[in-house]
Amino acid sequence: MATIRDLKIGQAAEVFTVGGEGALRQHFLDMGVIPGVTVQLIKYAPMGDPIELKVQSYELTIRLADAEKITVRNIHDPEDIGRSLVGISSMPDRRDPFESEFIDHPGLGEGGRFHDKKTEHPLPDDTVLTFALAGNQNSGKTTLFNQLTGANQHVGNFPGVTVDRKDGVIRNHKNTLVTDLPGIYSMSPYTSEEVVSRQFILDEKPKGIINIVDATNIERNLYLTLQLLELNVPMVVALNMMDEVQSNGGSVNVNKMEKLLGVPVVPISAAKNEGIDELVDHAIHVAKYQEKPGRQDFCSPTDNGGAVHRSIHAIMHLIQDHSEESGIPVRFAATKLIEGDKSVEEALKLDQNEQETLEHIVKQMEKESGLDRAAAIAGMRFEFIEKVTASAVIKPKRSREETRSNKIDRILTGKYTAIPMFILIMAVIFYLTFNVIGGNLQTLLGTGISALSDTAESAMKAAGVNQFLISLVIKGVFTGVGSVLSFLPIIVTLFFFLSLLEDSGYMARIAFVMDKILRRLGLSGRSIVPMLLGFGCSVPAIMSSRTLPSERDRKLTVIMIPFMSCSAKLPIYSYFISAFFPKQGALVMLLLYFTGIAVGILTAVISKNTRFKGEAVPFVMELPTYRMPRAKNVGQLLWEKTKDFIQRAFTIIFIASMVIWFLETFSPSFAMVSDSSKSILAVVSGFIAPVFAPLGFGDWRMATALISGFLAKENVVSTIGILFGSVSALQKVLTPATAASFLVFCLLYTPCIAAIASVRRELGRKWAFWIVIFQCTVAWVCAFIVHLVTLAFV
Ligand code: GDP
Ligand code: MG
Repeated sequence: MATIRDLKIGQAAEVFTVGGEGALRQHFLDMGVIPGVTVQLIKYAPMGDPIELKVQSYELTIRLADAEKITVRNIHDPEDIGRSLVGISSMPDRRDPFESEFIDHPGLGEGGRFHDKKTEHPLPDDTVLTFALAGNQNSGKTTLFNQLTGANQHVGNFPGVTVDRKDGVIRNHKNTLVTDLPGIYSMSPYTSEEVVSRQFILDEKPKGIINIVDATNIERNLYLTLQLLELNVPMVVALNMMDEVQSNGGSVNVNKMEKLLGVPVVPISAAKNEGIDELVDHAIHVAKYQEKPGRQDFCSPTDNGGAVHRSIHAIMHLIQDHSEESGIPVRFAATKLIEGDKSVEEALKLDQNEQETLEHIVKQMEKESGLDRAAAIAGMRFEFIEKVTASAVIKPKRSREETRSNKIDRILTGKYTAIPMFILIMAVIFYLTFNVIGGNLQTLLGTGISALSDTAESAMKAAGVNQFLISLVIKGVFTGVGSVLSFLPIIVTLFFFLSLLEDSGYMARIAFVMDKILRRLGLSGRSIVPMLLGFGCSVPAIMSSRTLPSERDRKLTVIMIPFMSCSAKLPIYSYFISAFFPKQGALVMLLLYFTGIAVGILTAVISKNTRFKGEAVPFVMELPTYRMPRAKNVGQLLWEKTKDFIQRAFTIIFIASMVIWFLETFSPSFAMVSDSSKSILAVVSGFIAPVFAPLGFGDWRMATALISGFLAKENVVSTIGILFGSVSALQKVLTPATAASFLVFCLLYTPCIAAIASVRRELGRKWAFWIVIFQCTVAWVCAFIVHLVTLAFV
């Protein structure tokens, strides 16, 4: 039997069976790769793996190994490559043109339709109307959320998981609260995003759901809609990107779709701020009057001989009482049970007999329909969606955006151009961030902070403030917090570019291009961006790891990031190179960068085979159409990051700075010292210094430098400068050989406090602690090896 792997570029075929198991398989099905659907092979990634497929009306990447598990038949060359008619709903001719006319804003809002269904008891006026905002990735969720809430947002984490949680009050509607759920394709419990969304709706019971649907990609987006409807929570569908659909000659018969789905459908353009008010009115209305969806029954007695239909309804009857007890909506529970969802099974507490009955019903359904349980349910949903789109949607022939995307992709993911373009784009971003924008701003901010610090110092001296306080403010606050704050411009600039990459759709392409390399490390293509950012600064790099889809990938990536030579390590390198290796500068620099990368890779490979066994998450990812990022989204994100960073600078970093200042300023008998060699820090360093003796730098001053480097890596150089006084004094203590092992130690040992704080935020306290220990150990071992090697050969 032929598989997707056997397709040639441009060829299309009908999916026959979808192999594999568990999460990966469910994910395929949820993304619309189901038996009977037409897929077309668009291209191979430059390294030959993964591949880009066209399914329904969107593009998807999968790995070759996974493509092999999907068998196909009826391979053919479609006459028009890339036409958006590839897909299951390609029967445009049966439609009545009058029915399909696009109705701009149905304007049915408060008066007509809804009042027929209105319950007599609206929720009391003081109830907070809570909404969940749910939708696929790239459907415009962030844009809509920003339009709905304006500046009234609050960002946090979902309890227990590091997935962003954004809440906000709808503009001009007090007593409302919208929660932005993570972008998901399905309500399967496989990714942490899906689990979060599902739990949020089931446990926190929002008063309503706002489901955002990308109208340019309607089949796949409605797949989630059907599952949300099964939850039996009041809901409105926001049909987004209508501007694009219309300008390309497509249209949607909103009334018809509304009737078929049983919930209000409001066409909007989040980016152009059109239709938002109607959306809000409808959302508030359904929530206030608790209007449940008018329809949940998407199966039909005529499809596939009705096998799926009969099994769903049989199971609904079977579990009715358990569903009521556990509070899981019955239709949702039934379809999830058929899909084989273990967590629903447990929550329902079915007894032995019922479980067996359930399995019998499912077996019978599989036998009658000829499909396995998961594929049968996915097929049922897509069949209904096909009916909806066939009667309510006129698809644009081929959109301008799609044509443009294909053109851009010819270069950005082209066989010979993809990697050079990637390197070029990253180089430009780094150049602009570290040299032009970030660098200059950082210098400016640094100068500003030190000027402020000088002014404060002389003012305090003039006012006769006691020395203790002066030292606290100047050394503790200004030096400590100031040195970290001066990173702010770099971080904001990096995030600016990062959000451009993400919002434009290029990030998905980078993952597509780099997946093959990263796979060897047990990671997926998506980890490339955080790792690259690590060469700039670990803080935004670690923060950006949150875009990774699985916990495992996130941890592995975060462990690797600090081994990359961040820009703060550069001053150390240059200082030591000019002191010890003036002739081999470039070589030493290169070796250091390379060592960092090599150690990172080694760590990944070892972890992959030990602590992080198993595969990276299935790399089934949508390649969204390129779109111009909105200034508003980017601005909002930068503001969030800035706020977040400043908050941290003044909490955790502030405290850490105070502690180090304290240790450096007081002697063990708590008297203030002017000579830091008598301070607690020096005494402590004296204790620690012997640890470094085997590495060749057991001097207490070197130990002090390393400890102060914990605050910020540049501090290593400034501390050495203060404690030694001159380069020649340093040259008396170290040889080129011991300098080399010191450099290696600096490269690898624990990242600065700001980075550790980010690790803590992303992965928790325990992980932050272990990463510090792990990295110091690795640094020690590597420096020791370098020392041994240099002793033997130099
Ligand atoms: P999210 O991933 O669901 O949060 O989607 P975003 O809000 O980041 O939007 C994805 C892309 O679609 C961005 O480039 C937006 O500018 C764009 N976009 C969002 N809404 C619309 C819309 O109504 N019309 C058009 N043409 N583009 C939109
Ligand atoms: Mg978004």
